[in-house]
Amino acid sequence: MGETSNFEIRFECQSGCSKCCQVSGYVYLTEEDVANAARYLGLPQAEFEAEHIYRTRNMRRIRKPRRNGKQCPFLDAGGCGIHPVKPVQCRLFPFWPELVESRREWKRTAKWCPGIGQGELIQIGTALEMAHEMREKYPDTYE
Ligand code: SF4
Ligand code: SF4
Repeated sequence: MGETSNFEIRFECQSGCSKCCQVSGYVYLTEEDVANAARYLGLPQAEFEAEHIYRTRNMRRIRKPRRNGKQCPFLDAGGCGIHPVKPVQCRLFPFWPELVESRREWKRTAKWCPGIGQGELIQIGTALEMAHEMREKYPDTYE
Protein backbone atom coordinates (compact mmCIF):
# COMPACT_ATOMS: atom_id res chain seq x y z
CA MET A 1 0.00 0.00 0.00
CA GLY A 2 1.43 3.33 -1.00
CA GLU A 3 1.31 6.51 0.96
CA THR A 4 -1.87 8.55 0.88
CA SER A 5 -1.79 11.52 -1.44
CA ASN A 6 -1.17 14.74 0.41
CA PHE A 7 -1.10 17.17 -2.45
CA GLU A 8 -3.62 19.05 -4.53
CA ILE A 9 -5.08 17.12 -7.43
CA ARG A 10 -6.76 18.89 -10.28
CA PHE A 11 -7.61 17.19 -13.53
CA GLU A 12 -9.79 17.76 -16.54
CA CYS A 13 -9.16 15.76 -19.69
CA GLN A 14 -8.59 18.11 -22.62
CA SER A 15 -10.78 17.80 -25.66
CA GLY A 16 -8.92 16.64 -28.75
CA CYS A 17 -5.89 15.47 -26.77
CA SER A 18 -4.61 11.90 -27.00
CA LYS A 19 -1.13 12.24 -25.57
CA CYS A 20 -1.63 9.47 -23.02
CA CYS A 21 -2.31 7.09 -25.93
CA GLN A 22 0.99 8.05 -27.52
CA VAL A 23 3.47 7.84 -24.67
CA SER A 24 5.60 4.73 -24.70
CA GLY A 25 4.08 1.92 -22.67
CA TYR A 26 1.76 -1.04 -22.72
CA VAL A 27 -2.01 -1.08 -22.49
CA TYR A 28 -3.15 -3.90 -20.19
CA LEU A 29 -6.68 -5.26 -20.26
CA THR A 30 -8.89 -7.15 -17.89
CA GLU A 31 -10.67 -10.23 -19.24
CA GLU A 32 -13.81 -8.15 -19.35
CA ASP A 33 -12.04 -5.44 -21.39
CA VAL A 34 -11.01 -8.03 -23.98
CA ALA A 35 -14.55 -9.40 -24.33
CA ASN A 36 -16.07 -5.91 -24.47
CA ALA A 37 -13.65 -4.65 -27.10
CA ALA A 38 -14.22 -7.70 -29.33
CA ARG A 39 -17.98 -7.28 -29.04
CA TYR A 40 -17.76 -3.55 -29.71
CA LEU A 41 -15.75 -4.16 -32.88
CA GLY A 42 -18.13 -6.90 -33.96
CA LEU A 43 -15.42 -9.56 -34.00
CA PRO A 44 -15.42 -13.08 -32.58
CA GLN A 45 -13.18 -12.90 -29.50
CA ALA A 46 -10.69 -15.42 -30.91
CA GLU A 47 -10.24 -13.33 -34.04
CA PHE A 48 -9.90 -10.12 -32.07
CA GLU A 49 -7.33 -11.69 -29.77
CA ALA A 50 -5.31 -13.18 -32.61
CA GLU A 51 -4.96 -9.78 -34.14
CA HIS A 52 -4.71 -7.46 -31.16
CA ILE A 53 -3.96 -9.20 -27.89
CA TYR A 54 -0.80 -10.65 -26.40
CA ARG A 55 -1.52 -12.76 -23.35
CA THR A 56 0.33 -14.76 -20.74
CA ARG A 57 -1.20 -16.67 -17.83
CA ASN A 58 -1.49 -13.54 -15.69
CA MET A 59 -1.93 -10.66 -18.07
CA ARG A 60 -3.28 -9.48 -21.37
CA ARG A 61 -2.08 -6.48 -23.31
CA ILE A 62 -2.71 -4.81 -26.63
CA ARG A 63 -0.16 -5.65 -29.30
CA LYS A 64 1.59 -2.55 -30.55
CA PRO A 65 1.41 -1.99 -34.30
CA ARG A 66 4.61 -3.21 -35.96
CA ARG A 67 4.83 -0.25 -38.25
CA ASN A 68 4.02 3.46 -37.98
CA GLY A 69 5.41 3.92 -34.47
CA LYS A 70 1.97 4.00 -32.87
CA GLN A 71 1.66 2.69 -29.35
CA CYS A 72 -1.92 1.53 -29.76
CA PRO A 73 -3.69 0.32 -32.91
CA PHE A 74 -7.01 1.79 -31.76
CA LEU A 75 -5.82 5.38 -31.78
CA ASP A 76 -6.99 7.16 -34.89
CA ALA A 77 -7.52 10.75 -35.96
CA GLY A 78 -10.78 10.95 -34.06
CA GLY A 79 -9.28 9.61 -30.83
CA CYS A 80 -9.82 6.20 -29.28
CA GLY A 81 -11.55 3.83 -31.69
CA ILE A 82 -12.94 1.78 -28.81
CA HIS A 83 -13.72 4.70 -26.51
CA PRO A 84 -16.97 3.36 -24.99
CA VAL A 85 -15.22 0.14 -23.97
CA LYS A 86 -11.66 1.36 -23.49
CA PRO A 87 -9.52 -0.70 -21.10
CA VAL A 88 -9.67 0.10 -17.40
CA GLN A 89 -6.19 1.65 -17.31
CA CYS A 90 -7.14 4.06 -20.12
CA ARG A 91 -10.43 4.97 -18.47
CA LEU A 92 -8.82 5.64 -15.10
CA PHE A 93 -5.72 7.52 -16.24
CA PRO A 94 -4.21 9.54 -14.59
CA PHE A 95 -5.68 8.16 -11.35
CA TRP A 96 -3.23 5.29 -11.18
CA PRO A 97 -1.86 4.36 -7.75
CA GLU A 98 1.72 5.08 -8.77
CA LEU A 99 0.69 8.61 -9.79
CA VAL A 100 -1.84 9.73 -7.16
CA GLU A 101 0.28 8.34 -4.35
CA SER A 102 3.42 10.19 -5.38
CA ARG A 103 3.66 13.92 -5.70
CA ARG A 104 6.85 13.47 -7.73
CA GLU A 105 5.24 11.10 -10.26
CA TRP A 106 2.11 13.26 -10.48
CA LYS A 107 4.22 16.31 -11.30
CA ARG A 108 6.30 14.36 -13.77
CA THR A 109 3.13 13.23 -15.56
CA ALA A 110 1.81 16.79 -15.56
CA LYS A 111 4.71 17.72 -17.86
CA TRP A 112 3.06 15.87 -20.74
CA CYS A 113 -0.63 15.46 -19.76
CA PRO A 114 -2.21 18.88 -20.30
CA GLY A 115 -5.29 17.89 -18.27
CA ILE A 116 -3.36 17.73 -15.01
CA GLY A 117 -3.64 20.97 -13.09
CA GLN A 118 -6.83 21.95 -14.96
CA GLY A 119 -10.43 22.02 -13.80
CA GLU A 120 -11.95 21.50 -10.40
CA LEU A 121 -10.09 20.26 -7.39
CA ILE A 122 -10.59 16.49 -7.16
CA GLN A 123 -11.59 15.14 -3.77
CA ILE A 124 -8.77 13.00 -2.50
CA GLY A 125 -11.25 10.24 -1.67
CA THR A 126 -12.42 10.17 -5.29
CA ALA A 127 -8.86 9.97 -6.59
CA LEU A 128 -8.01 7.16 -4.19
CA GLU A 129 -11.19 5.28 -5.10
CA MET A 130 -10.14 5.24 -8.73
CA ALA A 131 -6.63 4.19 -7.78
CA HIS A 132 -8.17 1.40 -5.75
CA GLU A 133 -10.13 0.23 -8.77
CA MET A 134 -6.83 -0.03 -10.65
CA ARG A 135 -5.45 -2.28 -7.90
CA GLU A 136 -8.58 -4.40 -7.99
CA LYS A 137 -8.72 -4.77 -11.74
CA TYR A 138 -4.99 -5.46 -12.20
CA PRO A 139 -4.17 -7.57 -9.14
CA ASP A 140 -1.02 -9.04 -10.68
CA THR A 141 0.41 -5.61 -11.41
CA TYR A 142 -0.21 -4.23 -7.95
CA GLU A 143 0.31 -7.23 -5.70
S1 SF4 B 1 -2.89 13.19 -21.94
FE1 SF4 B 1 -4.22 13.91 -20.27
S2 SF4 B 1 -5.50 15.53 -21.17
FE2 SF4 B 1 -4.60 14.33 -22.84
S3 SF4 B 1 -6.15 12.77 -23.32
FE3 SF4 B 1 -4.73 11.87 -21.86
S4 SF4 B 1 -5.66 12.26 -19.86
FE4 SF4 B 1 -6.67 13.64 -21.30
S1 SF4 C 1 -7.30 1.75 -26.11
FE1 SF4 C 1 -7.98 3.78 -26.68
S2 SF4 C 1 -7.59 5.05 -24.87
FE2 SF4 C 1 -6.39 3.17 -24.63
S3 SF4 C 1 -4.36 3.67 -25.49
FE3 SF4 C 1 -5.60 2.76 -27.14
S4 SF4 C 1 -6.49 4.50 -28.21
FE4 SF4 C 1 -5.81 5.21 -26.20
